[in-house]
Amino acid sequence: MNPEHSTKTQPSYPYSLISNPMDWKAIDRFILLASLVLLAPTSFGITMWMAYAMVPEWLNPTLVHWLSGLYILHILLMSGFIMTALKLRRYTHDWPLFENMIIASFLIVVLTTGYVTGTYLSEALLIIFLGVIITCTLADVNKIRFCFWIVVPVLVLMSIADLTNLLPHAMLLERSPIAPDGRPLDGWMAVRMTVAAILAPLIYLCILAMKRWTERENLYQEMSTIDGLTRLANRNFLISRGQEEIQRARATESTSMPPLSCIMIDLDHFKQINDSWGHHAGDQVLVAASKIMMESARPNDEVGRYGGEEFAVLLPGTTLLQAKLIAERMRVRISKMEVDVDGNRIHVTASFGVACYPSPDVEAMSDLLKTADHALYEAKENGRNQVVLAQSTSS
Ligand code: GH3
Ligand code: MG
Ligand code: MG
Repeated sequence: MNPEHSTKTQPSYPYSLISNPMDWKAIDRFILLASLVLLAPTSFGITMWMAYAMVPEWLNPTLVHWLSGLYILHILLMSGFIMTALKLRRYTHDWPLFENMIIASFLIVVLTTGYVTGTYLSEALLIIFLGVIITCTLADVNKIRFCFWIVVPVLVLMSIADLTNLLPHAMLLERSPIAPDGRPLDGWMAVRMTVAAILAPLIYLCILAMKRWTERENLYQEMSTIDGLTRLANRNFLISRGQEEIQRARATESTSMPPLSCIMIDLDHFKQINDSWGHHAGDQVLVAASKIMMESARPNDEVGRYGGEEFAVLLPGTTLLQAKLIAERMRVRISKMEVDVDGNRIHVTASFGVACYPSPDVEAMSDLLKTADHALYEAKENGRNQVVLAQSTSS
């Protein structure tokens, strides 16, 4: 194998800084996640230590010491894991223990801080929410779902402890941060503004993660329903649309069931076009023919690429004879079409088979396709470039 080619097709590490983290291998995503998680103990710690230095009488000293221990432990733990992961990333793609530690330590730090500051139902919950969005894109979503069922009871228990006065509310604060007139004190406003300043870029990060998520979802949707070359519906989508239309027709309460017609189309002697002008020219003929089919169909019809140089059109609410007229229109337009490829004018014709549901032989989508295909086969047998109606329905 050409070595140059193999390096192009293999994902190469390390990644460029601008590549999307969702495309990184798991351990690299965890390093990023752990670095983001470090923001929590660092910002909480700095805010608390600054407040303690400036207005020590406002904070409970015992809790300040305990929280300092917790934050420092968290910072050391995450830094240790990050450094180890930076070494391990050369040999391994994944490290579930690291992932578990990131999630668990983040929740412990945020929930504890939220509880002792009395913000566990506001800011702390928002920080967890942002953590969930970012983590869902970078880590295992099942672990996050599992954590949900731990966090909710913890929040309920905290609320009960507050309501029943089991423990003092906002234990870290020795005095109420709210003035008697209901206005938050300046220091408390400064703390919350610091939290908001950290949250704002995180919110933007969440928007970027969601943007990428939606783009992937749209791409997946497109790839699973649209043919890449002709941009028509693909075979799977066409068949499911046909099945839906038949179900809808069956469910119609009126005595006359709305018909569903199907036109099967196969380009004539297409192999010769490839052989004479090349595969690239063949592709252009397929695209040009598809365009004519789309233009000849009506908005509610579904035009799809059934395979290679075969196409199918589903025409809801259309009788066999109406479908025949549409097929004839397509046939004439395709036969008159000239495809200009590198200065060569290529002509092509197509054969058409038309069938309709309901009819004696057609009870399901598979019957409709099979019957239309038989009619198409007959069109080929009879000399091509023509429209043939399915026997059982036309007789
Ligand atoms: P007939 O009139 O009996 O249908 O003859 P035909 O040559 O059209 O049919 P045949 O089944 O012998 O050949 C179909 C050709 O279509 C062979 C295949 O290489 C070509 N083909 C299938 N898919 C594509 C495609 O995506 N692009 C191009 N350029 N050719 C394709
Ligand atoms: Mg053909
Ligand atoms: Mg064919």
